[in-house]
Amino acid sequence: MLSEKETRHLRRRLVAWYRAHHRPLPWRNTTNPYPVWISEVMLQQTTVNTVLPYFRRFMERFPDLQNLARADLQDVLMIWEGLGYYARARNLHRAARTVRDKYGGVVPADVTAFRNLPGVGDYIAAAVMSIAFDQPYAVADGNVKRVIARLLLIEAPVNRPVDHKIFKAAAARLLDMSQPGTFNQAMMELGALICTPRRPACSDCPVKVHCRAEHDGKVGEFPKRLQKSPPPEHHVAVGVVFKKRPGPDYATPPGRAAGGAVGISRRTGQGRRNASGRVRERNPGGGEPEGQNRLPIDPHQARLHPLQDRDGRLQLPIRIRQGVAKRTHGPSLGEAR
Ligand code: SF4
Repeated sequence: MLSEKETRHLRRRLVAWYRAHHRPLPWRNTTNPYPVWISEVMLQQTTVNTVLPYFRRFMERFPDLQNLARADLQDVLMIWEGLGYYARARNLHRAARTVRDKYGGVVPADVTAFRNLPGVGDYIAAAVMSIAFDQPYAVADGNVKRVIARLLLIEAPVNRPVDHKIFKAAAARLLDMSQPGTFNQAMMELGALICTPRRPACSDCPVKVHCRAEHDGKVGEFPKRLQKSPPPEHHVAVGVVFKKRPGPDYATPPGRAAGGAVGISRRTGQGRRNASGRVRERNPGGGEPEGQNRLPIDPHQARLHPLQDRDGRLQLPIRIRQGVAKRTHGPSLGEAR
């Protein structure tokens, strides 16, 4: 824990460093909540370099909240295409319409009202309220938590949700109430440029004098992280329906699985299309019908690699990664003609 005097000194050093060294990003140096909000939503789960061209295109196409609220959702998704996590774009669009209909098109400066908009969580609310309205809410994203863990030698794992409140409370204690938006951005920038996950540039760090990890020679030991358990494996087989001729008709194109879900019919027998046009698969282990499972498949994380066996039958091994699902492989499949 830093003393009040040390904390004041840290704030001064950090903000001075930020003013001199921050990256000139297009969503900075503004108090307009709209671009700040868009950028913070885009930056969730995504790096600054990836976000930059998307942010520019988005702001060209939807320069203000009224434009976004008026837009067709498909147009919004088209601009978002490639950035991933499309729920963010859908929520943003819904939130823009809510702001238009409920708040006359003005982004509410009240944290509770803003926090209740679709897709707005604690982090987005704190970032937008502090950066756009200079309200005293501390942010605690991954960069900030890493800096704080090292500065204060916090033993709690940064990736354990239940410990998030420890980092949030520490960030709130450090926050410069006289300039919360600038201070929050300075903390995030320090984590992004200096106090990086690997090989932090401690010799260039403006708050090095206050850093306990640096003082104790423990920078490499912090932040602490919980080891994730290895993702479980799902072994599935995907049924294939053959056209009469000239070639096979896959449930999805070779090499790419469709988003959504594959119905897994847990029974022996021949595969056939289900009502939604997808292909059911049978349980290669055989047995009596046991009902049907549904396995979500993310097109970015699943790949189909069709193979042909010696009898000319197609096999469709499917490899799935969906956070918890690690891999699958397909045994020989039944077929329908
Ligand atoms: S001294 Fe090093 S470890 Fe400590 S806050 Fe600065 S960059 Fe991070």
